[in-house]
Amino acid sequence: MILPKSNRLTSLQLAEITAIVTEFGCKIQPIIGAVRTIYAIVGDERDELMINRLEGLDYIERIDRIQSPFKLMDKRSDLASHRIKMGGVTLGEELLVIAGACTIDPKNPNYFYETAAAVKEAGAHVLRGGVWKPRTNPYTFQGDVKSMDILMEASRRTGLPVDTEVMEEAHVKLALDAGVHSLQIGARNALNYSLLRAVGRAIAERDVAVLLKRGMHMGPISEFISAAEYIVAFGNPNIILCPRGTAPTLDGYRNHPDESITPLLKEKTWAPVVVDPSHSVGKALYVPACALAAVAYGADGLCIEAHVDPSHGIGDDPKQALLPELLAETIAQCKQLWAMRRGSLAGK
Ligand code: PEP
Ligand code: MN
Repeated sequence: MILPKSNRLTSLQLAEITAIVTEFGCKIQPIIGAVRTIYAIVGDERDELMINRLEGLDYIERIDRIQSPFKLMDKRSDLASHRIKMGGVTLGEELLVIAGACTIDPKNPNYFYETAAAVKEAGAHVLRGGVWKPRTNPYTFQGDVKSMDILMEASRRTGLPVDTEVMEEAHVKLALDAGVHSLQIGARNALNYSLLRAVGRAIAERDVAVLLKRGMHMGPISEFISAAEYIVAFGNPNIILCPRGTAPTLDGYRNHPDESITPLLKEKTWAPVVVDPSHSVGKALYVPACALAAVAYGADGLCIEAHVDPSHGIGDDPKQALLPELLAETIAQCKQLWAMRRGSLAGK
C-alpha cells in the first residue's frame, strides 16, 4: 500500500509509480477516500528493489506491505504444520528444556559430565555446552575444539541430544561431523548472513535443528524472522527462535529481558520459540523468575545455563548458571505453568 505525502498523486506521479510496479509484474489500484487517496499494489509486492524504488520517490510518505517478506517462515506458509522434535519432545506439545554449561572446560571434563547427568536428572531434554565461545574480551578463553569430544561423550553417557554454538563455517562442519544435534547461532551472529546461509546449506539434508538467538541489537521482529528465513530457505525447516535479551537498558540485568516478544512472534511465524532466561538477566538469582515469565508469555521451551559447581565453571557459569537443584525446581514450576496456560488460556 502506497501512502503519498499529499492527499492524492498527480497524474504524472501516478504514471511514474505505475511504470515502476509494472516492471515487477504488479498493478496499481487507487483507493479513493473522502480526503485522501492511497494506492494498493496488486500482485506480489515482496520484491525489495521495487519497494526501494518507490520509497525513494520524494512524494511518497511510506509503503505498508501486506505480504510478509519471509514467505517460508510466515504463519500462512505451508510449513506452518511442520513440527520439530528434539530429545523426545515435539515442540508445542510439551515444554522443551535445553540445559547445561555455558562453556565446557576442556581441562576439567568431569564438571561437564557431572553437569550433563544432573541436568538430565533435573528434567532437561537437550544438553547444551559451549565448545567455541564468542567473548567480548579478546583475551578471555575463546573455547577449544577439544571440548567437542567431551560434549559428544556426555551425549553418549546421558543419551541426550546436544546443542552447541557455531561461529564460522569451519565450526559448522566440525560440529556436524561430530554428530551435534542442534547448532546454535549466537546473538552476535544473528545477522551474519553468510553464516546463516552456510548453516542452512550444511543442514539442508540432515536431521539437525538450529537454535537462532535474537541479536543483542536486533531491530523489528521481521528482522529476526527474516534471519531465520535465510536458513530455512535451503530446505530444512527445523528452526527454533531464541530470544535472549537485547542491549541492556536497566542497571541490574545483563541484557534487557525480551521474553514478552513471544506472542508477537507467534502472530507472524509458525516457528517455535525457546527463550534463554540465563543471558536475558545474567544472574542465577533472577533466572527462575525470567523462565516463568517466558512460559507465561507462551514460550515453547527454555534454554537455561546450569552447572554442578558454578564457582568453578568458566565463561558465564560462575555468575548465571543454576545449581541442579534450582534447575529442577524451575523446570517443575515452568512445566506446571505451561500446563496451566495450555489448559485455561491456550487459544484465547
Ligand atoms: C551462550 O549461549 O552461551 C551465548 C554466548 O549466547 P548468546 O549468543 O545469547 O550471547
Ligand atoms: Mn553463556
